Amino acid sequence: MRRTGTLIAVLALLSALLPLAACGSDEPVAVSREALGTVVSVTAYGEDEVAVRAAIDDAFATMAEVESDLDAYDPESAVSDFNAAPFEWHELPTSALEVLDAVDTLDAADEFSVGLFGVSQLYDFEGEGHVPTDGELSAALQTASMPEREGHRLRFLGIASTTAKPGLDFGGAAKGLALDRARESLRASGVVTAALISSGSSTVTLGTKPDGSVWRIGIEDPRDPETIVATFAFESDGALSTSGDYQRYFEHDGVRYHHILDPATGLPARGIRSLTIAAPSLSGLDTDILSTALFVRGAAGAVEYAEAAGAALYVVDDEGRAQLVPAPADSGLTVAEEATPKR
Ligand code: ADP
Ligand code: MG
Repeated sequence: MRRTGTLIAVLALLSALLPLAACGSDEPVAVSREALGTVVSVTAYGEDEVAVRAAIDDAFATMAEVESDLDAYDPESAVSDFNAAPFEWHELPTSALEVLDAVDTLDAADEFSVGLFGVSQLYDFEGEGHVPTDGELSAALQTASMPEREGHRLRFLGIASTTAKPGLDFGGAAKGLALDRARESLRASGVVTAALISSGSSTVTLGTKPDGSVWRIGIEDPRDPETIVATFAFESDGALSTSGDYQRYFEHDGVRYHHILDPATGLPARGIRSLTIAAPSLSGLDTDILSTALFVRGAAGAVEYAEAAGAALYVVDDEGRAQLVPAPADSGLTVAEEATPKR
């Protein structure tokens, strides 16, 4: 089982690229803390180091609020309240509604479902790993279809005696939303001129660095975490997310069971090892939803979607073949495909 190795590797890269100490407005303040079930790093520029550090603290507090709404593994969260009684109507927090609205706006509802908690629990990704039987899967899938929504309220359809208990899981979008909120918090502080916030699998950027250089985000080889296979470079604001079959998985009889599930079958989505989508025009919530949804859709559909959306895409299929959709010219994002060892 490997869950956090990738994230830590990406963070190690980030910290290697970024100076650690702040000494004047041309040097950033860099802070990494445990948040959102992983390690989140913030790198921020501004004239007043004390004020920048305070703004970073506020940004982490903002992310903690999203987590306390949406973390299905925190028994105190709003989502856990919902999951305790999934067949009753519950008023959802704004953050959850924002995710549901974005899924619709992005036309991703066929592939991105917040109703898969019961299905993904069957796999026991957090523990030993378990291959569900057909019976277990079909029982869980019956209740897992998108829950019924009425305005701000949501419930699962079904009866309380159903053996497979459904539940909400915002894990495929919560980090992106939290990064967006953190970015708005830094922007609103008035003291941060430029920043990068990363949860490992998602990254957002704010403004242009004082020296005018680009924000570089390296994408690792899905089968070799020591190698960077592509680099995305934002001039200013942007968002990027990667979904991979190597982030949370177990192997059974030579088959890899990973955490991105096809809502149609309840099985791990096949055909892709890693997919990255990025654009200056998209939010972190958008790219987080899309990296998961397009992973399910498959490489050909993902390429089509990215071209139509004016987004950059880097996808590695299950035979290791990479495809790149560059960002439109003058969009403020460039992508270079290159194999380089991670520093
Ligand atoms: P990461 O958690 O590394 O950011 P993703 O954004 O791809 O990776 O999210 C994967 C998580 O999303 C899974 O761990 C699970 O909680 C949830 N999930 C899995 N499949 C789907 C799906 N088809 N639609 C929505 N959420 C999903
Ligand atoms: Mg995602």
